[in-house]
Amino acid sequence: MRSRHEVAVVQCPACGAQFDAPLWLILDGEEQPGLLQQLLDGRLRETQCPYCDALGSLIAPLLYHDARYEQLILALPLSVASASEAESLAQHLVGLLHQQLLLEQLAEAEYLGHVHLAADLDDLQLMLDHAAKQRALNTFMASAAWSWPQPATIELLKDLVQSHDPDQQQAFWQSLTVAQQSDLTLMLDRLATVVPMDSGLGDFLRRFIA
Ligand SMILES: [Zn+2]
Repeated sequence: MRSRHEVAVVQCPACGAQFDAPLWLILDGEEQPGLLQQLLDGRLRETQCPYCDALGSLIAPLLYHDARYEQLILALPLSVASASEAESLAQHLVGLLHQQLLLEQLAEAEYLGHVHLAADLDDLQLMLDHAAKQRALNTFMASAAWSWPQPATIELLKDLVQSHDPDQQQAFWQSLTVAQQSDLTLMLDRLATVVPMDSGLGDFLRRFIA
């Protein structure tokens, strides 16, 4: 198993009782879709006291891996340790994952040589969310659905582009290939003739068509 957890002894912030809770340190999104969903919902590190039901949360690093999308991201909240302790913990987690991937003869992939960093689990959650939306947009653009915009297509595209953080749009644009940029420009050009420009989508269109 690629994912790993320890058992943390948690003290309830409300009643003071102690209980055990799983603390995931390595999460493989392909292997553990349920835990991935908890991460995306912001609930992975939530604890609930079995005696009084009070909620709490654990703060600890998390190494996230997903071979399907070549993702290797370490969320490293500095509040858990000094910078040097955090660094050695990070190396330890990456080492453990590498050992497992070696057993599965999967350790040769190039993306495994570089660990991306996230500031904390919220940041990791945003990165995964952004990557998923970009994949959805790429899939959408690779399909023939947008070649002549129908109302349903427009709604779908609107959801996809508006779900991007406006501050991220420039970075998103630069992450596309030249061919994708040209496809998207063409698509937005067509959409501009059918979508009212005072909608939220209008702002997005103006930025890219101008
Ligand atoms: Zn309690």
